[in-house]
Amino acid sequence: MKVKGFPIWLMGLAIVFVGQLTVQSAVQAQSVHRYAISFDQAMQHQARISVEFPNIDEQPLQVRMSRTSPGRYAIHNFAKNVYDVQAYDEQGNQLQIIRPNPQQWNVIGHDGFVRFEYTLFANRGDGTYSQIDETHAHLNIPATFVYARNYPQRPIELAVELPKDSGWKVATQLKQLNPTLFYAPDFYYFMDSPIEISDYHLRERMVDGQLIQLALHTPASDREVNDYFAKVMAIVEAQRDVFGELPEFDFGRYTFLSCYMPQASGDGMEHRNSTIVTNAKPMEEPLGNTSISTISHEFFHAWSVERLRPVSLEPFDFEEANMSGALWFAEGFTSYYTNVILARAGVITPDEYVEGLARTLNYVMLSPGSQFFNPIEMSYRAPFVDAATAIDPDNNANIFISYYSYGSLLGLALDLTLRTETEANLDEYMRTLWQQYGSNEQPYTIKDLKSTLAILAGDSLARAFFARHIYSSEMPDMQQLLGRVGVELSLEKENEPYLGPSTRWSEADRVYEISSAPQMGSPAYEAGLRLGDRIMSVDGLRVESNRSPASIIQGKRVGQQVEITFTRWGMTKRVSVQLKANPRMKTERVRRLSRAEAVAFGEWIPVRQ
Ligand SMILES: [Zn+2]
Repeated sequence: MKVKGFPIWLMGLAIVFVGQLTVQSAVQAQSVHRYAISFDQAMQHQARISVEFPNIDEQPLQVRMSRTSPGRYAIHNFAKNVYDVQAYDEQGNQLQIIRPNPQQWNVIGHDGFVRFEYTLFANRGDGTYSQIDETHAHLNIPATFVYARNYPQRPIELAVELPKDSGWKVATQLKQLNPTLFYAPDFYYFMDSPIEISDYHLRERMVDGQLIQLALHTPASDREVNDYFAKVMAIVEAQRDVFGELPEFDFGRYTFLSCYMPQASGDGMEHRNSTIVTNAKPMEEPLGNTSISTISHEFFHAWSVERLRPVSLEPFDFEEANMSGALWFAEGFTSYYTNVILARAGVITPDEYVEGLARTLNYVMLSPGSQFFNPIEMSYRAPFVDAATAIDPDNNANIFISYYSYGSLLGLALDLTLRTETEANLDEYMRTLWQQYGSNEQPYTIKDLKSTLAILAGDSLARAFFARHIYSSEMPDMQQLLGRVGVELSLEKENEPYLGPSTRWSEADRVYEISSAPQMGSPAYEAGLRLGDRIMSVDGLRVESNRSPASIIQGKRVGQQVEITFTRWGMTKRVSVQLKANPRMKTERVRRLSRAEAVAFGEWIPVRQ
């Protein structure tokens, strides 16, 4: 059975609330947009939603679903999961709706009051979308609620009708009026405030006078949750130490909304006073360190992005894609700190941190993408890659480097440069930016990032770093920089012949298929091999399930020509490939550090006692 209209029991609560307000804010309260959501069809991933829009002076009323979600850069079609739509006037008479575009419903002929009702289907649990089922209602607001296009300044109230005997509770950064009634001062705040409704574990602790909460929806013992929360708190404190203080959270409260369920999808999404962290964790798997690096990444955003914010993201557009050239900093430097903080908080060891660096360095330094775009231009591509979907293939394997990884490498390079060439370090840079542009929420430009670096490290260092690595795409000399703190960057294997792309065994066709696009400069690319080509034999030796092209090539020499037989479009073809040396690198701490290297490393990643 669907719940239609505004539940009567909620009307009582709303009246009590209005009764407590002053006369002036009571006028404002009359323009509150009142939302209600119920979950009678949760088993079928559906919710019924009603919204009351009072004192509407536009004709028709334009009601929309968003096309974007704060913190995401792709464009979405959330409206596709909205149906069974009706609109009523105050007396309950049905109003006519017309559709001017796929994202919008125009309600015509109203007399200033509209009640808008619809059913929502939602079955993706992550930072962009919503998921409703018998275990939870995980709600990202833009994917869930319509809004009145031309009334963004009006306050919003949301009433949540919990299913009977569900044990569900509501976790959100929204102001709580009572356990199931929530308040946002305007539309922008509402859109930024995701909600986890489930029977979650709750842990909380005061840090510097503010409450840090973990609402964790996952099957886990109290002891597992306690251990996990201890790591979360160590991360919170290590990050507080970078910036020197916590941000001033609204209502003195920050909430991690963690949902690790088998039906969820791995993701993380920052918000002003909360974050969504999701993971597809099988029920029986121990909690362990599930998504702990995402916890680290997203909490860093409470400073950088949420308050220390690029001017290019202000104001956030809910109808068009949002583009920023600063994501190499906003996301990339955050990615650099993600793992540095895990090491400083003792979640991973310094050796694990150092060995893990190779993954990012290999991806960024060996990618041909920097020939085409600098980090600012890579950032511009976020709307094409950040939770974006398309059916036409792209050439990102050759032209794109994720601004997360690229920026992470640049953060590492700048930190090591500052530490070994100046009295400063990247923590001080972040703290200075925080004081200049973050705590007072004065949006920054890329020029501001450069001038702040100049204040801290001198004009010539700042000018050189930005000219070479930000406004153009020269790679920093990572081998030299890492060497200064006693970390060696070297080939994983000397003179190892390689083909390039990865291959995948197809049981049906008994062949290895090229499963990643060959990169420019790799032997496969230069020989004209492509994604989807099916390799039958290498140098006359037939590939088998237990004899991959890579394993055959292992037995060859660098510089050797090998003949590859493959099929494309059902036709058999042959190419001769000249093997090159695999450029893959590894990172490790050198055994015998000089005193200077040891001191520099210890200041960078302090070893915990
Ligand atoms: Zn959940």
